[in-house]
Amino acid sequence: MKGRLVLVATPIGNLQDLSPRAVEALGSAAAIACEDTRRTGRLLSHAGVAAPRLLVVNEHTEWTARQQVVDLLDGGAIVCLVTDAGTPGISDPGEALVAAALAAGHEVSTVPGPVAAIAALVVSGLPTARFVMEGFLPRRGPERKARLAGVAAEREHTIVLYEAPHRLARTLGDLAAVLEPARRIVLARELTKLHEEIWRGSLAEALELVAGSEPRGEFVIVIDRAPPEQPTAPEEVIDRVRALLADGLSTRDAVDRVSGETGIARNSVYELALRLDH
Ligand code: SAM
Repeated sequence: MKGRLVLVATPIGNLQDLSPRAVEALGSAAAIACEDTRRTGRLLSHAGVAAPRLLVVNEHTEWTARQQVVDLLDGGAIVCLVTDAGTPGISDPGEALVAAALAAGHEVSTVPGPVAAIAALVVSGLPTARFVMEGFLPRRGPERKARLAGVAAEREHTIVLYEAPHRLARTLGDLAAVLEPARRIVLARELTKLHEEIWRGSLAEALELVAGSEPRGEFVIVIDRAPPEQPTAPEEVIDRVRALLADGLSTRDAVDRVSGETGIARNSVYELALRLDH
């Protein structure tokens, strides 16, 4: 039999944002797959929905838990998927379960609603027509460097990032290593909650803002795309790399920074930097 998996968006802070259609879907599901049964239980009791069967499907859940959901779908059931906040599948579990449901021949639909990234983007004041959702940056290593370099090179799209409060200062610092200080940035904090705050300024000002104080609450970082490419003479690139090396940066960091500032590909900057050795 054909079942249906329904991805139901839930509030990102304000319970009033749970839509009537979400309440209806949750109330009529045979089971609800969620990240945390206590949290979802509270949401259901707020919505006046008698708790149906709750299944935990989170990023650590093994294949067997996904299989439980597929078994229910195989029996023709409607199963809802919710996460702790916002839209399932957006920096949250969802993707694997959707793939499993589709692979087993079931229908997948959604009750759309809040997404922190979209809420932040639309109030940012930055261009909204074309944007790129980067989610959480990798925490460390070459993957983080590569993604930061990608952010620096982005000329076409406004960039949206998620970040935990205790990592915000470090991420802004890492962004400052590859982006020009004047780049426009927006910090959307505690969206839809009592202490909602939308801060807009330059990257340099954002660094000052978070210096010395542990930011609190949930944050979305929205970053303007890089300014239009100005043709930069090779001599200028070499001078800029030389100045950064003299400031104590490693060749790699200097190349990343100049690539971010000029929009010239890392490889090309690196080739120019090699001329310094001769
Ligand atoms: N699925 C969710 C969505 O649709 O937005 C995102 C879940 S992700 C695990 C959590 C991150 O989303 C937080 O670290 C923060 O970056 C962002 N976020 C969630 N709620 C937020 C809020 N009310 N205000 C600002 N950022 C929020």
